[in-house]
Amino acid sequence: MQTTDLKNKRVLVMGLGSFGGGADSAAFACGQGAQVTVTDLADEARLGQTLQSLRGLPIRWHLGGHEEADFKHADVVIVNPAVPPDNQYLQLAKDAGAVITSQVPLFFERCPSRTAAITGSNGKSTTTALTAHLLEAGRGQEGVAYDRVYLSGNIGNLPLLGLLQELTERDIVVIEISSFQLEQLAASRIGPDVALVTNLSPNHLDRHGTFEAYCAAKENIFAWQSVKRGEVPVSIFNADDPLCLDWYDRYRGRPDRRCVLFRAEDVPAAYRECFALPGRVNLQNLAAALAVAEAVFGVDAERLRQGISSFRGLEHRMQLAAETGGVRWYDDSKATTPVSTMAALNGIEEPKILIAGGYDKGISFADLGRCIAERCKAAVLIGQTAGKIEAAIEQAGPSKVIVRKAKDMQEAVGICSEMSQKGDVVLLSPACASYDMFKNYQERGLAFQRAVTGG
Ligand code: ADP
Repeated sequence: MQTTDLKNKRVLVMGLGSFGGGADSAAFACGQGAQVTVTDLADEARLGQTLQSLRGLPIRWHLGGHEEADFKHADVVIVNPAVPPDNQYLQLAKDAGAVITSQVPLFFERCPSRTAAITGSNGKSTTTALTAHLLEAGRGQEGVAYDRVYLSGNIGNLPLLGLLQELTERDIVVIEISSFQLEQLAASRIGPDVALVTNLSPNHLDRHGTFEAYCAAKENIFAWQSVKRGEVPVSIFNADDPLCLDWYDRYRGRPDRRCVLFRAEDVPAAYRECFALPGRVNLQNLAAALAVAEAVFGVDAERLRQGISSFRGLEHRMQLAAETGGVRWYDDSKATTPVSTMAALNGIEEPKILIAGGYDKGISFADLGRCIAERCKAAVLIGQTAGKIEAAIEQAGPSKVIVRKAKDMQEAVGICSEMSQKGDVVLLSPACASYDMFKNYQERGLAFQRAVTGG
C-alpha cells in the first residue's frame, strides 16, 4: 500500500458539499503543504456554512461550476463521493495522469489506529453509533487493548482526516461508510481492519444502475482488507441475509482474514432485556455491534450490559419519545422510504397505530399498504401522500385497520391519543420525505415529540 503524497502537489478537491467530507479533505490537503484548489458546481451562496469553516486557509476557489484547466493540471484529485466515477471532468484529470483519490482511502492510508468500518442498506448509523458506544463501555477493562474510541464517517458532520493528528495505534475508529465511498475504495485497493455489512436491499439504483453493481460496490469493504501491524483483518457477515451469507461462504476459507457471523436470534436474553430500541431490526443492529465489541475486541459481559442499557438510540430513528398510560410513542421520522417503515412495523409485536405520509417521491405504496392492513390497528395519514397511502391500504383488501387523515402533526397526535389503549405503540414512521410540510426529517420528528409531550 502506498501513501498518496500531497506535499507541494497541485491538489484539486472536487465537490465541497455540505456534509463535511469536502471541507475535511481541503483542510487536510492544506495541512500537508499542498497547493489546494476547491471546485464545486454549487455557488458561494449555497456553500455558505462550509466555506466559513475553511476561512483563512490558502485555497483557490472555483465555485458555481468546474473549469477544465483545473482538471488538466492537477497532480491529485480528491473526489467527493457524490461525483459518479464516469464524470467527464474526472476523465480529463485521469487522461492527464492525475492520481484520483478520496477522503476515506486517504484516511486508511495514514491511520495508525485500528479501523472498524460499517456499511449496509439499512441500520448503518444505528449500528455504527451502537458499536462505538459498546466499545466505549469496554474502555479501561483489563485485557482490552485500546485506549480511545472515535466515531466518524457518514454519520454526521464529523471530521475524518482531521482526526489523524490525534490518533495513535492504541485507538479504534468506528466509521460509517456509504456505497459511494466504497466504490472509491476499489481504486485505492485499501480496506479497514474490521469490516461489517448490516444487510443488503436495493438502494441508490439511480447511481449504481443495477442491484448487482450496488452489491459489488458494498463488497469493496471486504475485498481490500489486508494484514496491518501483523494483525489479521476481520470480516463480519449477517447470517440472516442470504446475500451476506453468500459472501461469508466465499470469504471464510481465505487465510488472509478471520470471518465472523452474527445473527439476531443469538443475542442473549440478558442483553435483550436491557436494550431500549424496539423491533427485530434493532436486534439485528445489536447483534452486529456485539460482533465487533465482543467477538473482535473482547469487551466483557458486564460492560456490554452497561453499554447496551445506556444506549438511547439515534434521534428520530425509533427513538422512544414518551411513555404515557402504558402507551409507548416512537419517533421514527428518519424512515423516509416504505422499506424502512415496513421494517419498523414488522419488528414491533404490540398493537400499532402508525402516523405516515409526506412528500411524494413517486414511490409505490402497494407493499406498504398491505403491510399496514396486516400489521396495524390504525393509520393516521398526513401530507401529500395521504390519499395514495389510503388507496394502497384499501387495495390490499378487507382489513380491520382504521384509517384517518389529519391536517397536521398536532391533529395526528391528538387522534392517536384518543384511539390508543394501554399496551399500544404509536409510531411516527412516515415512509416519505418531509419536504411538503417540514424543512427536514429532524423538524418533523421534533414536531411529533412536541405534540406528544405537550412541550
Ligand atoms: P441508515 O444509516 O442505514 O440510513 P439508520 O440507522 O439511520 O440507517 O436507520 C434509519 C431507519 O431505518 C430507522 O429509523 C429504521 O426505521 C430503519 N432501520 C434501522 N435498522 C434497520 C435494519 N437493520 N434493517 C432494516 N431497517 C432498519
